[in-house]
Amino acid sequence: MSLPALVEPAAELSIDEVRRYSRHLIIPDVGMTGQKRLKNAKVLVIGAGGLGSPALLYLAAAGVGTLGIAEFDTVDESNLQRQVIHGVSDIDKPKGLSAKESIAEINPYVTVNLHTERLDNDNVFDVFRGYDLIVDGTDNFATRYMVNDAAYFLKIPYVWGSIYRFDGQASVFWPHAELEDGTSAEAPCYRCLYPEPPPPGMVPSCAEGGVLGVLCASIGSIQVNEAIKLLTGIGDPLVGKLMIYDALEMEYRKLRVRKDPNCALCGDNPTVTGLIDYDAFCGAISDEAADAAVGSTISVVQLEHMLKERSEGARDFVLVDVREPNEYEINKIPGSVLIPKGDFLNGSALEQLPADKQIVMHCKTGVRSAETLAIVKGAGYADAVHVGGGVVAWVNQIDPSQPSY
Ligand SMILES: [Zn+2]
Repeated sequence: MSLPALVEPAAELSIDEVRRYSRHLIIPDVGMTGQKRLKNAKVLVIGAGGLGSPALLYLAAAGVGTLGIAEFDTVDESNLQRQVIHGVSDIDKPKGLSAKESIAEINPYVTVNLHTERLDNDNVFDVFRGYDLIVDGTDNFATRYMVNDAAYFLKIPYVWGSIYRFDGQASVFWPHAELEDGTSAEAPCYRCLYPEPPPPGMVPSCAEGGVLGVLCASIGSIQVNEAIKLLTGIGDPLVGKLMIYDALEMEYRKLRVRKDPNCALCGDNPTVTGLIDYDAFCGAISDEAADAAVGSTISVVQLEHMLKERSEGARDFVLVDVREPNEYEINKIPGSVLIPKGDFLNGSALEQLPADKQIVMHCKTGVRSAETLAIVKGAGYADAVHVGGGVVAWVNQIDPSQPSY
């Protein structure tokens, strides 16, 4: 499938620009016209994190004239393993500003617009409007569905990417795409591929599950590749196709994604006709876990007090860390025993728990432990509790000598 170029060419390139972009200009398919299209292009990148970092660097180097950066976060030391647009001197700086400074260093001909508010239903249309194309580097499902729906309502194409550990995916979602002859390309949206978000807690975030740093470059560069093709109208874009990358097997697979006539957004009888409550749709936590956590969540300060009492023989309980062994190696709450969440899901954990002691559970931030809390309570441990904020809160508030991750 070939699609017409998204952007009209700019009037001209300056002599400096011709010199700078000469390696593009001598590619026949790009040439002067393609480079002028890039100069005229306005691309919004959502997130200056794992995917946004390489995407912004290459979009800027390629000569995309206007780059928007939607990013509200600040640079953390743990970002530097993969977010290559930021450096040591940027720690604690707003990520958008840090990215803007790096872009200025690479290509001063790029205009950068910063959107520093967190994207939500109230501002997403204002932020998106005016851009030719969006590159989505979002790391959570609620924002992902919001981006999909808002881009659909504004008829803006977007290049989607996702990463987890050694696996990446990318696609272009643009249900309004039209072929050269003006007929519909019958292209799908994100909801056609993933009609519903995974159950909360089933798919860990990169913060919970980790990501190989270089995977961000593999997927981010695919996103830029597709962006350049769409902007200039060259090649066969990933419209209606899903690219799946396995870094361990070093394998790329391309699957066809069809437009779903029953899609809630772009189907024949849509039920999503405006922005919805995406947090409720994606559920930060399952209903069972939320119910279990009510009245059964303790703070790390309370836990510290309980541990002290336990050491004095004044009370007894079992502190269970439900994270994975490799997380347990990084940091831990002293006196905890490791029983990963999977053992609770398959039932084997319950055999390891004493019947006559209180069970206290924690994970990294409190999402996984809320789920295991529901399981343990269901098994009859009525006085079981979990630790709100998990080991992250413990390290922040009680024991800063341990590393965070
Ligand atoms: Zn759809």
